[in-house]
Amino acid sequence: MTITSALVLFSGGQDSAVCLAWALRRFERVETIGFDYRQRHSVELRCRTVFLAKLREAFPGWAARLGEDHLIDLGVLGEVSDTALTREQEIGFAASGLPSTFVPGRNLVFLTFAGAVAYRRGLRALVGGMCETDFSGYPDCRRDTIDATSTMLTLGLDRPTPIETPLMYLDKAQTWALGDELGGTRLVDLIVEETHTCYLGDRTHQHAWGYGCGTCPACELRGRGWETWRGVR
Ligand code: ZN
Repeated sequence: MTITSALVLFSGGQDSAVCLAWALRRFERVETIGFDYRQRHSVELRCRTVFLAKLREAFPGWAARLGEDHLIDLGVLGEVSDTALTREQEIGFAASGLPSTFVPGRNLVFLTFAGAVAYRRGLRALVGGMCETDFSGYPDCRRDTIDATSTMLTLGLDRPTPIETPLMYLDKAQTWALGDELGGTRLVDLIVEETHTCYLGDRTHQHAWGYGCGTCPACELRGRGWETWRGVR
């Protein structure tokens, strides 16, 4: 059976924006889901609404395929996690060797809620921007974890629940390139202007690659990827 509908995990960041464009090229019916877990960079949540509105304007063909947006309140996740993304805490490495920005269980919870919403909405696939390639080493971004989660949802919901991760093996430069391939300069400009990546939620400093503090690990990655992509293009 060909899968024609999908629910995209859309955070308001660069990666999930590219995933959304990827899904809109591939599926006839697409909806989006986002999560408020009291992230420090909650500016991301405002960006996602603006990005969705401007995407509809700029790409009428995609707008026809793009349905409802679901924003889920997961404040409880912020309550149980003590991390640099949910508390005023320095961004570095924890004793586990993982970055202090790692929110334990985050993607597992996100995907489970996404599975539930997709079930209710009759959407067949889940699409997420998880990626193994870059620095983070988040264990819940590994393809193995995603495969296990897909199996869990397929069993637990008693229907096939594939999870597509188009960025899994791409680096940030390749992610910019994919955005360009999917939606050209119009999409790249929209990603630069209206998506948010910076861990500190900085929207006051503007760079060629978008807004951000320019020095946190997320900004560095986004900026370096941009420079590499522009350099090799
Ligand atoms: Zn930053």
